[in-house]
Amino acid sequence: MFKVIERLLGDKIATEKISLTGSERFRGKINGSCPENLREECAKVCPVGAFKVTADAQGYAVDYKKCLFCGKCVEKAMGNLQHSSDEALPVITEDAAEVTAEVIKQKLGRSLHVRHLDAGSCNACDFEMGAMSNPIYDLHRYGVHVDASPRHADLLMVTGVVTRNLEQALKMSYEAMPEPRLVMACGACAAGGETYGASYAIVGAADKVVPVDIYIPGCPPRPSAMIAGLLAAADMLAERM
Ligand code: SF4
Ligand code: SF4
Repeated sequence: MFKVIERLLGDKIATEKISLTGSERFRGKINGSCPENLREECAKVCPVGAFKVTADAQGYAVDYKKCLFCGKCVEKAMGNLQHSSDEALPVITEDAAEVTAEVIKQKLGRSLHVRHLDAGSCNACDFEMGAMSNPIYDLHRYGVHVDASPRHADLLMVTGVVTRNLEQALKMSYEAMPEPRLVMACGACAAGGETYGASYAIVGAADKVVPVDIYIPGCPPRPSAMIAGLLAAADMLAERM
């Protein structure tokens, strides 16, 4: 707290480097070996079916698109599983995030334009998204611009599980975007679709309605994970142009 005040009074820039590693208390990827007699129990307590028992040497697999990082399986494994402090981003590493930042400048040659659509979120993902633009995360340093219309967007960023009310809006937003277009499912609701279970009001994950190119795990994901995903998107877009 004092450091922040000192920085404000000293009129210094508070922007951080984007890091995919959280604090010691951060719940990231699940590591460790789970004893055979506890695996079924771990799968049973998982509220979204992300923890599955497998026949390979590890004996379990976690679907990070669905995982809420709630810690219930870790608790059930009685010290045999641990959350690491690494962000669960299966396709993106911290190095790659820095490299893709260079790619934006070198290949894309312009800003990445993003349209956000809340398809039925609890709003926590949207709050974290808002934090990307604050001076700490400073999204604008990477040349990423949030647009008011899908007609000007390269990427559609979807938060929330797709509800029946928003299904049509999601389809129409996607169809209104110019080619080449990308879709990013941000958070366990949009990426995994299991957070609120099955109901008459819910369609499910975003990829049930539109093709998804990038999944950002977390409930909600941290702003740095979202930014890393956007940088990877810029890389993918440059290759498609
Ligand atoms: S941490 Fe993830 S895999 Fe484990 S119980 Fe929670 S949602 Fe399931
Ligand atoms: S992923 Fe979690 S934080 Fe994001 S909208 Fe769903 S419930 Fe809310």
